[in-house]
Amino acid sequence: MLLNKIELIVLVKSIFFLLSLNAFSILSQRSPQNIDTNYVFDLPFAPGEKSMVMQGYNGSYSHQGQFALDFKAKKGTPIHAAREGLVYITESSHVKGGPKKKFLRLGNHIVIKHSDGTFAAYWHLLYKGALVKVGDTISKGQLIGLSGNTGYSSWAHLHFDVYYYSEGKQVTIPTLFKTTHGIKKLKVYHSYRKPIESQSAISKNIDKIEYHFQDASVPPLHHRSYSWIITETQLRFTANSYGTILKDTTIAISTIKWEQCKTAFLNCGIKNQKNIETNQGCTGGTSITIQTWLNEKENFFGTANKCGGKTVGNLSGNTEKFLSVIKEGVDPLVYQTN
Ligand SMILES: [Zn+2]
Repeated sequence: MLLNKIELIVLVKSIFFLLSLNAFSILSQRSPQNIDTNYVFDLPFAPGEKSMVMQGYNGSYSHQGQFALDFKAKKGTPIHAAREGLVYITESSHVKGGPKKKFLRLGNHIVIKHSDGTFAAYWHLLYKGALVKVGDTISKGQLIGLSGNTGYSSWAHLHFDVYYYSEGKQVTIPTLFKTTHGIKKLKVYHSYRKPIESQSAISKNIDKIEYHFQDASVPPLHHRSYSWIITETQLRFTANSYGTILKDTTIAISTIKWEQCKTAFLNCGIKNQKNIETNQGCTGGTSITIQTWLNEKENFFGTANKCGGKTVGNLSGNTEKFLSVIKEGVDPLVYQTN
């Protein structure tokens, strides 16, 4: 049967339409619609840490055509997840690295898959520097590895990029980061600091807890400020009245007591995310500051001031319950000041 002219045109148009549908589906595969291009990443370091970008997007050294970042990081720098996800790849069996292409395949790395189908890669980790396993669920800010200089790398640094797969190839995408100066697209030779309040999952990796109470509200005679400093082996209590030391006692504690304090810190919902402006123009009042540390590096800092019936600061959670656990089982002679 012969087609008339109109039928032929309709047929040709249909074929073009079907072809264009196919082209559209290839395009949409290249740029999946569910990718969250406005996602705000955490800098991949510990809260409060600062790092310089040594090579940025499309860098001439090794980032041609890539949205990749190289952060300066000394060997052994703790690397924290920039975004939550599932561990997809870990490799940390390599020892060597250097500025030669022959080292390209020897870079230790971690890849984390995100909920929108993108992946984040963290490269050049230390030998045995991957602290997570394939399949682990990772929260944002979680410690995942230690940086190094393995693979194709001429200085100790962390290479970071985010990509999706298109026809089996990795396509990198630009990323936004939360910094102490707001949300930024990072530039080469600029330094950026990870804000302390961006810590969304409080680290269980702590070896020292400090609880400070500052008093400025009562008459001098009764004024008391005190501190509890707890480590894995010791508890130290100090108290002063306007700087005059009233008490400074250190006692040995058991591992169980330490674990109780650590668990209480985690279970009392103590967080530093509630960011309220500082208490300007209020004199007197009391304040509570809680800090935690690992290897002499602060990894939590929260403070709250009570003044004129208002509480301001970034510390939230049940601090009273936390203090009661610290005091539990401690001889009152240690902390009584009369
Ligand atoms: Zn790089």
